[in-house]
Amino acid sequence: MPTDDCIFCQIVAGASPVSVVYRDDLVIAFMDTRPVNPGHLLVIPLVHATYLADLDEQVGMRMFAVAQRISQAVRDSSVRSEGINLHLADGVAAGQEVFHVHLHVIPRFDGDPAIFTANWGAPPGRTELDAVAQDVRKGVTEV
Ligand SMILES: [Zn+2]
Repeated sequence: MPTDDCIFCQIVAGASPVSVVYRDDLVIAFMDTRPVNPGHLLVIPLVHATYLADLDEQVGMRMFAVAQRISQAVRDSSVRSEGINLHLADGVAAGQEVFHVHLHVIPRFDGDPAIFTANWGAPPGRTELDAVAQDVRKGVTEV
């Protein structure tokens, strides 16, 4: 359900100023106002979805297709972009701050300040990988 206090629903409704890159019948893409790097933009569904689980798959596919095309457009533009990260935070623990699904398109270049860190540690063995794969596989349905 769209909510009056959802800033992305306000953008979709035209109630908040935004620098649009692309819009169609399912999604809109616009410049992020707090960019990780210049050219950082967001692709969001027009219909409110709080989490991935709430997002219509057809809309999700469109979001990715648009992000794919925009990534190339960014690379072809004057934006400094030697690479691209697509990033989607689903849930607070993943870093989601706006609760309307959004896919980040982030231009990257050598030496930029964006850092993705993890405690890589020792890699898991095949037995552990197989066990986790089996557990997750139980919940995956055919696309
Ligand atoms: Zn919303």
